[in-house]
Amino acid sequence: RLTLHRHCTDEASTIELGAALAQAMVRCELPGLLITLRGDLGAGKTTLVRAILRGLGVTGRIKSPSYALVEPYAIERKSLKLKGTLQTNAYHIDLYRFSDPNEWDDAGLRELLDGRSLCLVEWPERAPALLPQADLDITLNPSPQGREIDLQSGSPVGAAMLHQLAS
Ligand code: ADP
Ligand code: MG
Repeated sequence: RLTLHRHCTDEASTIELGAALAQAMVRCELPGLLITLRGDLGAGKTTLVRAILRGLGVTGRIKSPSYALVEPYAIERKSLKLKGTLQTNAYHIDLYRFSDPNEWDDAGLRELLDGRSLCLVEWPERAPALLPQADLDITLNPSPQGREIDLQSGSPVGAAMLHQLAS
Protein backbone atom coordinates (compact mmCIF):
# COMPACT_ATOMS: atom_id res chain seq x y z
CA ARG A 1 0.00 0.00 0.00
CA LEU A 2 1.56 3.26 -1.18
CA THR A 3 0.82 6.72 0.12
CA LEU A 4 1.67 10.08 -1.32
CA HIS A 5 1.17 13.48 0.24
CA ARG A 6 0.64 16.74 -1.62
CA HIS A 7 0.32 20.22 -0.24
CA CYS A 8 -1.84 22.39 -2.51
CA THR A 9 -1.59 26.07 -1.66
CA ASP A 10 -4.50 27.22 -3.80
CA GLU A 11 -7.24 26.08 -6.15
CA ALA A 12 -4.86 26.23 -9.12
CA SER A 13 -2.49 23.75 -7.52
CA THR A 14 -5.37 21.37 -6.68
CA ILE A 15 -6.33 21.56 -10.37
CA GLU A 16 -2.71 20.85 -11.32
CA LEU A 17 -2.78 17.72 -9.15
CA GLY A 18 -6.00 16.60 -10.90
CA ALA A 19 -4.36 17.09 -14.29
CA ALA A 20 -1.34 15.08 -13.13
CA LEU A 21 -3.63 12.28 -11.94
CA ALA A 22 -5.32 12.22 -15.36
CA GLN A 23 -1.89 12.00 -17.01
CA ALA A 24 -0.93 9.12 -14.72
CA MET A 25 -4.12 7.29 -15.73
CA VAL A 26 -3.41 7.81 -19.40
CA ARG A 27 0.21 6.64 -19.05
CA CYS A 28 -0.81 3.58 -17.07
CA GLU A 29 -3.47 2.79 -19.71
CA LEU A 30 -5.84 1.92 -16.97
CA PRO A 31 -9.05 0.09 -17.76
CA GLY A 32 -11.52 0.43 -14.92
CA LEU A 33 -10.60 2.42 -11.89
CA LEU A 34 -12.33 3.34 -8.66
CA ILE A 35 -11.15 6.52 -7.01
CA THR A 36 -12.74 7.63 -3.75
CA LEU A 37 -12.49 11.18 -2.39
CA ARG A 38 -12.91 12.06 1.28
CA GLY A 39 -13.10 15.40 3.04
CA ASP A 40 -15.66 17.83 4.39
CA LEU A 41 -17.89 20.07 2.30
CA GLY A 42 -15.65 22.56 0.55
CA ALA A 43 -12.51 20.46 0.95
CA GLY A 44 -12.00 20.38 -2.82
CA LYS A 45 -13.28 16.94 -3.88
CA THR A 46 -15.34 18.25 -6.79
CA THR A 47 -12.56 20.63 -7.81
CA LEU A 48 -10.19 17.65 -8.08
CA VAL A 49 -12.72 15.46 -9.94
CA ARG A 50 -13.35 18.25 -12.47
CA ALA A 51 -9.63 18.64 -13.06
CA ILE A 52 -9.25 14.88 -13.61
CA LEU A 53 -12.15 14.82 -16.11
CA ARG A 54 -10.76 17.88 -17.92
CA GLY A 55 -7.40 16.15 -18.06
CA LEU A 56 -9.09 13.18 -19.69
CA GLY A 57 -10.53 15.42 -22.38
CA VAL A 58 -14.01 16.28 -21.09
CA THR A 59 -14.81 19.71 -22.53
CA GLY A 60 -18.47 20.28 -21.64
CA ARG A 61 -19.99 21.48 -18.41
CA ILE A 62 -19.09 19.42 -15.34
CA LYS A 63 -21.73 19.98 -12.72
CA SER A 64 -21.76 18.63 -9.20
CA PRO A 65 -23.82 15.42 -9.18
CA SER A 66 -25.28 15.93 -5.69
CA TYR A 67 -28.90 15.64 -6.77
CA ALA A 68 -28.54 13.06 -9.50
CA LEU A 69 -26.05 10.90 -7.52
CA VAL A 70 -24.29 10.13 -10.83
CA GLU A 71 -23.11 12.19 -13.80
CA PRO A 72 -21.80 10.18 -16.77
CA TYR A 73 -19.07 11.36 -19.16
CA ALA A 74 -17.72 9.84 -22.34
CA ILE A 75 -13.96 9.83 -22.49
CA GLU A 76 -11.62 8.83 -25.26
CA ARG A 77 -8.36 7.21 -24.43
CA LYS A 78 -5.48 6.47 -26.71
CA SER A 79 -4.30 2.92 -26.30
CA LEU A 80 -0.73 2.13 -27.30
CA LYS A 81 -1.45 -1.57 -26.95
CA LEU A 82 -4.46 -1.47 -29.26
CA LYS A 83 -2.88 1.26 -31.44
CA GLY A 84 -6.09 3.22 -31.43
CA THR A 85 -8.63 5.13 -29.42
CA LEU A 86 -10.79 3.54 -26.77
CA GLN A 87 -14.21 4.89 -25.91
CA THR A 88 -14.89 4.49 -22.24
CA ASN A 89 -17.12 5.99 -19.65
CA ALA A 90 -16.31 7.98 -16.59
CA TYR A 91 -18.81 8.44 -13.79
CA HIS A 92 -18.75 11.21 -11.24
CA ILE A 93 -20.66 9.92 -8.22
CA ASP A 94 -21.56 11.94 -5.12
CA LEU A 95 -22.98 9.95 -2.22
CA TYR A 96 -23.52 12.95 0.07
CA ARG A 97 -27.29 12.48 -0.10
CA PHE A 98 -27.17 8.72 -0.28
CA SER A 99 -29.01 6.99 2.55
CA ASP A 100 -31.31 4.28 1.23
CA PRO A 101 -29.49 1.15 0.01
CA ASN A 102 -32.32 0.60 -2.51
CA GLU A 103 -31.13 3.74 -4.26
CA TRP A 104 -27.91 1.93 -5.07
CA ASP A 105 -29.44 -0.38 -7.65
CA ASP A 106 -32.04 2.20 -8.74
CA ALA A 107 -29.23 4.56 -9.71
CA GLY A 108 -27.45 1.68 -11.44
CA LEU A 109 -24.39 2.00 -9.25
CA ARG A 110 -23.77 -1.73 -9.11
CA GLU A 111 -23.31 -1.87 -12.89
CA LEU A 112 -21.18 1.27 -12.98
CA LEU A 113 -18.75 -0.18 -10.47
CA ASP A 114 -18.17 -3.23 -12.63
CA GLY A 115 -14.47 -2.50 -12.94
CA ARG A 116 -14.55 -1.41 -16.58
CA SER A 117 -15.21 2.29 -16.11
CA LEU A 118 -13.57 5.12 -14.30
CA CYS A 119 -15.60 5.93 -11.19
CA LEU A 120 -14.83 9.00 -9.12
CA VAL A 121 -16.76 8.81 -5.87
CA GLU A 122 -17.25 11.63 -3.35
CA TRP A 123 -18.41 10.71 0.18
CA PRO A 124 -17.56 6.98 -0.02
CA GLU A 125 -18.09 6.76 3.75
CA ARG A 126 -21.87 7.02 3.11
CA ALA A 127 -21.91 3.55 1.52
CA PRO A 128 -19.09 1.58 3.13
CA ALA A 129 -20.72 -1.84 2.69
CA LEU A 130 -21.60 -1.30 -0.96
CA LEU A 131 -18.42 0.12 -2.45
CA PRO A 132 -15.63 -2.23 -3.49
CA GLN A 133 -12.05 -1.55 -2.41
CA ALA A 134 -10.87 1.62 -4.15
CA ASP A 135 -7.79 1.60 -6.37
CA LEU A 136 -6.99 5.05 -5.05
CA ASP A 137 -8.35 6.74 -1.95
CA ILE A 138 -7.83 10.49 -1.69
CA THR A 139 -8.32 12.53 1.47
CA LEU A 140 -8.44 16.31 1.38
CA ASN A 141 -8.00 18.43 4.50
CA PRO A 142 -8.16 22.21 4.65
CA SER A 143 -5.16 23.81 6.33
CA PRO A 144 -4.23 27.44 6.94
CA GLN A 145 -2.09 27.22 3.78
CA GLY A 146 -4.60 25.62 1.42
CA ARG A 147 -5.21 21.87 1.37
CA GLU A 148 -3.31 18.84 2.59
CA ILE A 149 -4.03 15.98 0.20
CA ASP A 150 -3.21 12.34 0.96
CA LEU A 151 -3.37 9.70 -1.74
CA GLN A 152 -3.36 6.02 -0.82
CA SER A 153 -3.32 3.08 -3.19
CA GLY A 154 -5.57 0.08 -2.58
CA SER A 155 -4.55 -2.06 -5.55
CA PRO A 156 -1.59 -2.63 -7.90
CA VAL A 157 -3.05 -0.25 -10.52
CA GLY A 158 -3.49 2.40 -7.86
CA ALA A 159 0.11 1.91 -6.81
CA ALA A 160 1.23 2.19 -10.45
CA MET A 161 -0.59 5.51 -10.70
CA LEU A 162 1.10 6.85 -7.59
CA HIS A 163 4.46 5.76 -9.00
CA GLN A 164 3.68 7.73 -12.17
CA LEU A 165 2.62 10.72 -10.12
CA ALA A 166 5.76 10.69 -8.00
CA SER A 167 8.16 10.34 -10.94
P1 ADP B 1 -16.20 19.60 -2.14
O1 ADP B 1 -16.58 18.89 -3.40
O2 ADP B 1 -15.16 18.85 -1.35
O3 ADP B 1 -17.38 19.95 -1.29
P2 ADP B 1 -15.53 21.86 -3.84
O4 ADP B 1 -14.50 21.37 -4.79
O5 ADP B 1 -16.93 21.97 -4.34
O6 ADP B 1 -15.47 20.97 -2.50
O7 ADP B 1 -15.12 23.27 -3.28
C1 ADP B 1 -13.81 23.49 -2.83
C2 ADP B 1 -13.57 24.96 -2.65
O8 ADP B 1 -12.24 25.13 -2.16
C3 ADP B 1 -13.65 25.74 -3.95
O9 ADP B 1 -14.17 27.01 -3.66
C4 ADP B 1 -12.20 25.84 -4.40
O10 ADP B 1 -11.94 27.02 -5.12
C5 ADP B 1 -11.45 25.86 -3.10
N1 ADP B 1 -10.15 25.19 -3.18
C6 ADP B 1 -9.83 24.06 -3.85
N2 ADP B 1 -8.54 23.73 -3.65
C7 ADP B 1 -8.03 24.66 -2.81
C8 ADP B 1 -6.73 24.85 -2.23
N3 ADP B 1 -5.71 24.00 -2.45
N4 ADP B 1 -6.56 25.90 -1.40
C9 ADP B 1 -7.59 26.74 -1.16
N5 ADP B 1 -8.84 26.62 -1.69
C10 ADP B 1 -9.05 25.59 -2.51
MG1 MG C 1 -18.42 18.00 -3.98
